[in-house]
Amino acid sequence: MTNATHRLVPAVVFLLLSACAFTTHPTKTERITTPRTPTTWADALSGATQLEWEPVLSAKWKVERKGLINLERAEAKDLPKDEMDIVLPVHVLRHPTRGTFIIDTGVSQSLKDGNGGGIAWPVSSFMGALKPEESLASILKRQPTPLAGVLFTHLHLDHVMGLPDVPAGTPLYTGPAETTPTSFQNGLMRSTYANLFKGQQPTTELDVSQGVAIGGVKHAIDFFGDGSLWVVASPGHTPGSLAYVANTSKGFVLFAGDTSHTRWGWEHQVEPGEFTGDHAQNVDSLSQLASIAKELPAITVMTGHEWEPAGAIVAK
Ligand SMILES: [Zn+2]
Repeated sequence: MTNATHRLVPAVVFLLLSACAFTTHPTKTERITTPRTPTTWADALSGATQLEWEPVLSAKWKVERKGLINLERAEAKDLPKDEMDIVLPVHVLRHPTRGTFIIDTGVSQSLKDGNGGGIAWPVSSFMGALKPEESLASILKRQPTPLAGVLFTHLHLDHVMGLPDVPAGTPLYTGPAETTPTSFQNGLMRSTYANLFKGQQPTTELDVSQGVAIGGVKHAIDFFGDGSLWVVASPGHTPGSLAYVANTSKGFVLFAGDTSHTRWGWEHQVEPGEFTGDHAQNVDSLSQLASIAKELPAITVMTGHEWEPAGAIVAK
């Protein structure tokens, strides 16, 4: 592969992902009633229950910075227009009584073993730069309790590639309208998504619009009802993008998903570039997430595709 092709390929994959319908896999809607209506994040996270948080690096990838960060923004004018090393993380969250949950799925054992992982041609021909590290099967094998649910930030391919390792019947939670086809729908991705979702039960769309407003966040739902995990509506990158805020034994953690792919994007409050769907909505969601960190400066912020936590937001 030439250098030029090498650079192009991840961009092509991401653009496909950004534009395409995800899946025709069936969905159902679940409304979770939030028992309390806290007005601050300190109050929202004040319950006695803490989750165990285990971040896992499932794969490494390399993609163009202009996809990850909107380089058109004035703040970004000095950034190089090169490729960035990124990771595909899986965040394991263990609840003391409700079991093991994961945020996003990393890569499957089949993909790690070179057996395709359900990624159909021609998408598979664009995956050369992806380097699997630990499969979801391996991650789940060492958990003390069975997988009780998958909490997706969204359904772009780089977040669902571990699905072949998810036991059939496991609840798959997404944001609303996340599977809705777009005008760019085409067949390229459909067979891959059909393979990945094969045998899985319908996705459960969390009705975040029924959530409560907390601080600068418009809609949040108390997933377990004990304040240990909040699901935050974060549309823009995709229609149903979700972020998660957890009270863990390592402190409070915000999982921003691809509302910010990168630490730089978070710290400078610049939304993703070409990989994002609705820029204005993404900017608004990013600002809502920032309000959480402004109230709780000690919170750990994990972006969608970097391994190290983000730093503080730079004052403008
Ligand atoms: Zn992503």
